[in-house]
Amino acid sequence: MICNLQRYATHDGPGIRTVVFLKGCSLSCRWCQNPESRSRSLDLLYDERLCISGCQRCTKNNDCFQRKDSTGAVLIVREQLTESLMRQAADACPSGAISLCGESLQAEQIMQQVLRDKAFYQRSGGGMTISGGEPFMHRKMVQHLLQIARDEGVHSAVESCLHVPWNYIEPVVDLLDLWLIDLKHVDAEKFLQWTDGQLSLIQQNIRRLGEHGANVVFRVPIIPDFNDDEPTLAAIIQQASEHYRQFGGSGEIHFLPYHTYGMHKYHLLGLDYNCARQPLERPELLAFAEQQAKDCGLTAILRG
Ligand code: SF4
Repeated sequence: MICNLQRYATHDGPGIRTVVFLKGCSLSCRWCQNPESRSRSLDLLYDERLCISGCQRCTKNNDCFQRKDSTGAVLIVREQLTESLMRQAADACPSGAISLCGESLQAEQIMQQVLRDKAFYQRSGGGMTISGGEPFMHRKMVQHLLQIARDEGVHSAVESCLHVPWNYIEPVVDLLDLWLIDLKHVDAEKFLQWTDGQLSLIQQNIRRLGEHGANVVFRVPIIPDFNDDEPTLAAIIQQASEHYRQFGGSGEIHFLPYHTYGMHKYHLLGLDYNCARQPLERPELLAFAEQQAKDCGLTAILRG
């Protein structure tokens, strides 16, 4: 199931790209700005600002939707929602207050769309990037997409946290041109407090990718109260530097300061938001990270 297909993307690998966002993630980072990509199944988003006064259409024959006061918000019993009840409500809603996230497509259907922009990829040095969620939650789909991309001569990249068993990854090591890998922290306990994941699994996979000669680029999200301190950033940069020293590669490290663009989506999904409500604005910390990377022989790239 995919969340979205984004054409003409320029921040998810080189050149102009189409990004395929697959649904489902094994980490659930607290700062995630794409909460609609966490679950592998269909999600329902409700925006009460678009709800029409006096309307009751979604509540008809659908007990999961209740509107006691005709001008108030619709109450959604999310625990009892099934896919068909979600579709029923979204179809009934005339204003777009209810929308769905998730579409089941075959790899061939996805690639049909991706290949529409092949000429742009060739001219710009771009291609396809598979993102998520965590793409390797759909390992067969990833393999299939990459095989078609390879057959068509389209450059491929993946954005992954690598929090999956190695046997999910290994079959595509030779099919992928670029691995955009998150380096979020170096402390396993802190990592576990802020995500649902085991850092050791990720580090093992990074190492294995190095041993297989994979073309890796590290990306560091900088998150308030999680890793926005100099010692932690220095340790992350050091790890990236050691990887490149040992296994070779681009030597690039990308810094992604925390933003809150996706915060409102938590509300639309009926979820609590448990991270900072302001974007990270610490120019001195970013300057430190850039300098530290330079000192370690890395090329630092700051992503807005
Ligand atoms: S159908 Fe849409 S506009 Fe009407 S009450 Fe339900 S959510 Fe609001």
